Amino acid sequence: MTDLPSGKAVVAGVAGWPVAHSRSPRLHGHWLQRYGIDGLYAPFAIAPDDFGRAVRGLAAAGLAGLNVTLPHKEAAFALSGRADETARRLGAVNTLIFGPDGTIEGRNTDAFGFAENLKNGGLADGGGTAVVLGAGGAARAVVLALQSLGYGPIRVSNRTAERADALAATLGPGVEAVAWAERAAALAGAALLVNATSLGMTGQPALDLSLADLPAGAAVTDIVYTPLETPLLGAARSRGCRTVDGLGMLLHQGRPGFHAWFGVDPAVDADLRRAVAGDLLAAC
Ligand code: NAP
Repeated sequence: MTDLPSGKAVVAGVAGWPVAHSRSPRLHGHWLQRYGIDGLYAPFAIAPDDFGRAVRGLAAAGLAGLNVTLPHKEAAFALSGRADETARRLGAVNTLIFGPDGTIEGRNTDAFGFAENLKNGGLADGGGTAVVLGAGGAARAVVLALQSLGYGPIRVSNRTAERADALAATLGPGVEAVAWAERAAALAGAALLVNATSLGMTGQPALDLSLADLPAGAAVTDIVYTPLETPLLGAARSRGCRTVDGLGMLLHQGRPGFHAWFGVDPAVDADLRRAVAGDLLAAC
């Protein structure tokens, strides 16, 4: 077991602006410790205007790669010499892998993280109609994940109708835009409801949604994870629905990057949840 990094330590990190809120250093730091890996994972606060220069510099300095968070995901895609299919479909990258020959490979692991969280929560049970609230970057990854899990039709409802229309046009067929005013009615017959808006997050307005039309056997997940138990998940559970919180999506999306940089496909378990979100769990 390596307690402290040596001069040969593999280095990776997360780039964001701001980056102080990121839980990725805890996530990857926990895995490094747990697997006794000679490595380091650090936060990098990089202003948008400096992004390309800073990332190329970090690659030239020998970093193994970076996670990329807001507002850099599109810029990271543009910087990637090679990108996986999910990144190409989303036009956004959250994981950069630097090759020893100076190559920059971009991946998007948000859809993987969402799908793994749903599967591990026992909620991905055979498809059916799904309702997704939101049409931002995260909602787009959620829709791709739901398609890969066999859900359809997928009804997408967003406050700004044009964004839902654009999402349906680019990620369809099988994706239908539903007016925001019709979001509660769209729950009729749904097997799965996903909140992919920022509503319900600490400091944001609550999600205003009647669950009256949602079948009692439906599953509900929220990608917001601060708080872990959002009002939506509480309301769904009191109707007898099965639920899974959004923290697992964050934990699972980190796995492919960690594997590429440090050579281990790391486990997502209760210990990790406690390490990454001890403060959130304490608040429940
Ligand atoms: P984004 O691109 O900014 O999208 C925000 C979404 O929320 C849009 O659909 C927006 O609707 C909607 N929204 C915001 N305020 C609203 C309001 N007052 N009323 C109705 N709709 C509102 O953000 P994002 O990257 O998709 O992230 C969305 C949420 O997911 C954030 O809370 C983020 O922290 C969380 N997230 C979690 C994970 C995870 O691993 N669990 C991963 C990624 C993101 P408009 O289009 O009308 O503005």
